[in-house]
Parts: sequence; structure tokens; C-alpha cells
Amino acid sequence: MTFSSCKFTTAALFLLVLPLTLLSCSRSNDVKLVSERRNMLSTVVAISVPSEDEKLASSAIESGFGRVEELNKLLNAHDENSELGRLNNAEGPLKVSPDMLRALRIGIEWHDKSNGAFNISVDSLRRLWIDSAKEGRLPLQEEIEQARERTNIQDIKVDEVQGMVQLPAGLKLDLGGLGKGFCADEVAARMREKGVQNALIALAGDICAMGERAPGVAWRVGVQDPRDPDNPAAILTVLELTNRSVSTSGNYQRYVEIQGKKYSHIVDPRTGWTADNVPSVTVIGPDTVTTDILGTALSVLGVEEGLKLVESMPDVEALFIIFDESDKPIMTRSSRFVRFEAKGG
Ligand code: AMP
Ligand code: MG
Repeated sequence: MTFSSCKFTTAALFLLVLPLTLLSCSRSNDVKLVSERRNMLSTVVAISVPSEDEKLASSAIESGFGRVEELNKLLNAHDENSELGRLNNAEGPLKVSPDMLRALRIGIEWHDKSNGAFNISVDSLRRLWIDSAKEGRLPLQEEIEQARERTNIQDIKVDEVQGMVQLPAGLKLDLGGLGKGFCADEVAARMREKGVQNALIALAGDICAMGERAPGVAWRVGVQDPRDPDNPAAILTVLELTNRSVSTSGNYQRYVEIQGKKYSHIVDPRTGWTADNVPSVTVIGPDTVTTDILGTALSVLGVEEGLKLVESMPDVEALFIIFDESDKPIMTRSSRFVRFEAKGG
């Protein structure tokens, strides 16, 4: 599934799967980290499982990738035969899968919970920005207003009992802000069914840290310096996570360029303009669809409003990274974010 048609380079979060961490902390020398990376969903999907039984771990990893494939068939925005493609082109109500129904329910719920910052019907706005960029010009305010008229999420009709969905004319869904997180959680659930309790599942910047890396040892994930996105060594802080998810959103990896200026792939549905104020937002939470959605939503809300939202939610922490005039990072953390940061990096 391709969740964006913009340029995508590397993950915003780097996995620190240092062999030393495992060896020095693992009680059993037989525990190996079985890892596999595949190009899927127009990005890299990586699954790692610490296990004494390599065969068992490989088979669980395979079933995890199988789940990604299943969801790709439903959610691929660029395939008009995917369920999402058919829904976006349907002229009347369409029966959809339980997976799609759940993804839509979650997406719609978060519109209100994010004060309108998260909106799965931003497709018309995103398309406007991409098309205007191709013409080398900014969208006209009038065009923005017209596109905004096709983002009324309350006009989407969902019949949970019959599993039917109907989109109003002109409204198309964009599930790019939650798809990777949704997928990561589904992979985790599939792997749990296969008896795996500990795994790191990473879909680019959306990561589910299931269980722990070794007994008493957390998974380590680095938060990338947005100024140096192609350099895995440029890390601003290291997170230690056990049974937690983390997502980073930002405008530095995916954007459109108009007259030499970069405009984020995230749009503010409230104004129709791109959300360019926060180069990087990292969210830690109980599941990956939540952290994925909040990463996008907080990019829209900005530091002040975003922080208020995070502090009102139990079990969620966030780190906002912006830069001052001399390009020095200003890192703003929610009250308990520091608990997840490795001491001494
Ligand atoms: P993420 O990388 O998780 O921050 O998601 C960004 C993607 O979400 C974009 O590439 C769009 O496909 C979609 N998107 C952009 N703006 C919004 C928004 N305000 N609400 C929901 N999805 C959005
Ligand atoms: Mg997101």
C-alpha cells in the first residue's frame, strides 16, 4: 500500500539493534535476534524477533509479512482495485471488510478527538497541493476553499451492522495518516497468535515494540535529526521501549516543492494550507495506530496546542522538535516523555 505519492527517503526513527546490547544483557547466549526487512508499502518493513528457536521466529515473521500483504490489498491508495480504491471510486454504498470498517471507525473518531486536525478525507486538499506543485505555483485560496468543501468527514455514511460505507460525491479517503500504524498493530496481533511475545515491528517511522528485546532489556529506537535525514548516525535522542509504540511525523522527508520552498505532505484541514511549523514530532503510546494518528495530528496542531492535547490523554507522550534562527534544535517534551529516554543517549 502506498500511503503517499510524495517523495519518501528514509525512516524518521532508526532502530538501534545493537548486538552488544543484546549480548551484554541477555541471560541466555542462545537468544538470537532474527530480523528481516522487505520493501513493501513503498517503504521498508522490518520485523525482528529475539528467539532461541530461529525456525519458529522465521515462521512468525513470515506470517507477519503475510498480514502486511493482506492489508495492502485493502488499503493500497494507488490501486483502484484495492478496497480503498473501489470505495473512493464507488458511486453508491459499498460493502467493506471488517479491517476497513475498523480503520475508518478509528480515523473518524480521531477527527473530533484531535480538534479537527486529523481528517481522513483530506485527499482533495493533498491532491490540490500536488497538482499545483506540478504547475510550479501555490494553490489559489479559491481552489483551497473548493477542496475543503470535499473534506466534510461527517458526510461519510458508515453502517457498522451491515458493513456498508458510502462516501459523498467528490470526497475521497486518504488513510496515509494511520495506515502504517494500523498495519504494525495488525502484524503484532498476528505474531502474538503465533506465540511470539517479543518483537520489533517497524513500518518506516511507525514502530511497535512488543514485549522486550531480552529479559529486562528494552527495545532501543533512535529519533532522527530532521536536519540530516539520510544519516543514521544523526540521532537527537534514544528511546527505550517495552510494550510501547512510537511514531515520528515530519515535513522533512515527504513534501512538495513549489518555487524552491518545501511544503509538508501533511495538511491542516482547518485552513487547507500545509502544516509546516514542526519539523519533527515523536509520539509514544500504547498502540501504533494511536501514535501514527497523533504524530500527524500534532504536526498540524503545533507545539502549544499539541502539548495541551497530549497532556489531556493518559498513556501518551510526545516530543516536538523545532529549530531556532541559528538552526539549533529546540526540543519540547510532554511531562513524562523523559522516562522513555536512554540515560546518556
Ligand atoms: P504521517 O506520515 O503518519 O504523518 O502521515 C502523513 C500522511 O497522512 C500524508 O502523506 C497524507 O497521506 C495523510 N494526511 C495529511 N494530512 C493529514 C491530516 N491532517 N489528517 C489525516 N491524514 C493526513
Ligand atoms: Mg501518522
